[in-house]
Amino acid sequence: MASSLFLPFPPPSTTTSLTPRTPLFSSSPISLRSRSIRPSLLQLRASAAVDSPTHPSAKPSVPPQIPYPSLPFRVGHGFDLHRLEPDLPLIVGGVLIPHDRGCEAHSDGDVLFHCVVDAILGALGLPDIGQLFPDSDPKWRGAASSVFMKEAVRLMHEAGYELGNLDATLILQRPKLSPHKEAIRANLCELLGADPSVVNLKAKTHEKVDSLGENRSIAAHTVVLLMRK
Ligand SMILES: [Zn+2]
Repeated sequence: MASSLFLPFPPPSTTTSLTPRTPLFSSSPISLRSRSIRPSLLQLRASAAVDSPTHPSAKPSVPPQIPYPSLPFRVGHGFDLHRLEPDLPLIVGGVLIPHDRGCEAHSDGDVLFHCVVDAILGALGLPDIGQLFPDSDPKWRGAASSVFMKEAVRLMHEAGYELGNLDATLILQRPKLSPHKEAIRANLCELLGADPSVVNLKAKTHEKVDSLGENRSIAAHTVVLLMRK
């Protein structure tokens, strides 16, 4: 997580909704899309994507309780960047990727999962990942980023939305991600409860320029479309 903004939250409301505001939290249970869930895939493939024993569930350090207008569609964008340092594991999308260095981070440094979480939170109009799971909270030290993904998906369903589609782009000079793309995409689909047809993943280099192109950092962009259920 790279966010370091700690703005007063929630901010004062200055907008007027066209429809009755609905509370984010409700008593209804989580309902995943039955058409897109394959029970055999509900167990995470990569060990890095499995909750650590010390993090059986992810409850945000700052519980989000932001009411917002009920819209049929919501778009969210996520961006994340991590510094790469020697002798650290490189975990991308829950997959441990062999490399000479990995992400410097408070959690497992999964730049893609962080980015997707921020896109979902952004679409919901919620605080970013750095505010919900601050790196100042020791309980997130070394946490598998799948716990953040699960919490973002839970919030999405609780707010009455489901994933329309997701498009993500990873930026790193090396190693090549092509051998790992399908495993990463499968992890995304499992955590999102989404069919592969609506989860797209791209990867590109940074043309050897700047920190991204010099193997000193890794970044990701994600756009999501959420649809009211
Ligand atoms: Zn991050």
